[in-house]
Amino acid sequence: MDKVKYIFVTGGVTSSLGKGIISASLAKLLQARGYRVTIQKLDPYLNIDPGTLNPYEHGECYVTDDGAETDLDLGHYERFLNAPTSQSNNVTTGKIYQTILENERRGDYLGKTVQVIPHITNEIKRRVQLLGETDEYDIVITELGGTVGDIESLPFLESVRQLRWDLGVDQTCVIHLTLIPYLAAAGELKTKPTQHSVKELQENGILPDIIVCRTEHKLTSDIRKKIALFCNVNFNAVIESCDVPSIYQVPLEMLREKLDRVVLSKIKLPLRQEPDLSKWKDFLFRLEHHKSEVQIGLIGKYVELPDAYKSIVEAFHHAGASTEIKPNMTYISSGSISEENVREKLIKLDGILVAPGFGERGINGKIESIKFAREHKIPYFGICLGMQCAVIEFAQNVAKLPDAHSTEMFPNTHHKVIDIMEDQKDIEHMGGTMRLGSYDCKLVKGSNAFKAYGKTNIQERHRHRFEFNNEYLSDFESKGLKATGINPSTGLVEVVEMEKHPFFVGVQFHPELKSTVETPHPLFEKFLKAAEHLNQIKN
Ligand code: GLN
Repeated sequence: MDKVKYIFVTGGVTSSLGKGIISASLAKLLQARGYRVTIQKLDPYLNIDPGTLNPYEHGECYVTDDGAETDLDLGHYERFLNAPTSQSNNVTTGKIYQTILENERRGDYLGKTVQVIPHITNEIKRRVQLLGETDEYDIVITELGGTVGDIESLPFLESVRQLRWDLGVDQTCVIHLTLIPYLAAAGELKTKPTQHSVKELQENGILPDIIVCRTEHKLTSDIRKKIALFCNVNFNAVIESCDVPSIYQVPLEMLREKLDRVVLSKIKLPLRQEPDLSKWKDFLFRLEHHKSEVQIGLIGKYVELPDAYKSIVEAFHHAGASTEIKPNMTYISSGSISEENVREKLIKLDGILVAPGFGERGINGKIESIKFAREHKIPYFGICLGMQCAVIEFAQNVAKLPDAHSTEMFPNTHHKVIDIMEDQKDIEHMGGTMRLGSYDCKLVKGSNAFKAYGKTNIQERHRHRFEFNNEYLSDFESKGLKATGINPSTGLVEVVEMEKHPFFVGVQFHPELKSTVETPHPLFEKFLKAAEHLNQIKN
């Protein structure tokens, strides 16, 4: 087998420049040329994984099939490449140190001093190459989180420097993403911050091969020449990345700038075919040309930060394009909804989604919203906590169990309709111990869920600790709340649906995590169609 090539993507000047999108866009182009590509994210923070981070800190926590709690950039990788990622695709400083410290306690380094160099850097290098050793990929793209100059990024940069020597220069390529700010007063684009940031990289022994410049204005030929001259790269290796309205346009921008060509020539791989992006372009066209519009309310407690619900929002874009129904999203803080104002806040909506979440804050607003959706026959889609709240609302208002609740919010409530499972009760550590990753689910024929998927056996990803309490199942089913998806090996309820309602579906899993550009999620599509139906009746 030919040697695997490694591409590293670093960031300079500021954070939030979109390394994840650039990495995913490059990967898409290389994939469209016929290469087998994967992307990995190295995160410099000390948490073992982002699972214990508040979404306000780091946005949504993305979950892989094999149950890793990861950075939200992995969601972009999957959505762009239409291929699953795994545990190996996200490595944090926390994980690296955990491994080294466990080795040390086991006695692996007896007699030796354990140090950042070589022990930490060797472990980083090992992790970077794990994906390459699977024989599944021709190219591994590694995105380095953080910004060059951060203290905590240093071991990662040193590892990249060493890997370039270990593997050979033609085997690797370093892309540095920077910002070219525009000074309105001077009417000029400024290259100095980029020069400084490249110098900083060079001080760490890394000479970038390609500079991708985030900019609000087009780069003139003079600016490109200046960057090439001062940053030691070829003129054609200065790539412009102008702001575009949708992240999904970035692969086409990078194609226009020939990023894929420059990369392939650097790592000495043939161009193969011209990238086949017909499906991608078709999606982009549909993203702009809808036949109808619907109003969707996303109710959650982190709505001020859209990154907290990244995958849900993207899943709506994918389903909106495939169904040609434009979802106009309104983000509503669950804490702002009460019995008194629920009508005023939700009456204009064609579809209501209650988002995943943890803890008590905003829970009553979620329950009020679900009651409103149930009683007014507004399409309802509940995800994870959104499904659990639907069960609580039904128990309180239809099954007439006023104190029914989840033991997550009220541990001592009498009617524990959502409860912690036996195997979760003795768990003391919070990190990585939820029900995580892909589980089988069997759908009931004739249900809305079955109609959406068009099959009975499905697999979806989970991230939660609490479950529907089956003691209440037969009572609730007789009163109209049906379990239409069951885990075949444990009997746990994974999907609930309301009878005599056009679309009222609660799912214990996270369907949004499996929605991609090329494979939009059927539940999101079905929800949008139900919302469109209501919208047509209203108008
Ligand atoms: N807090 C709930 C649980 O742990 C739901 C989690 C979620 O919505 N992802 O079960």
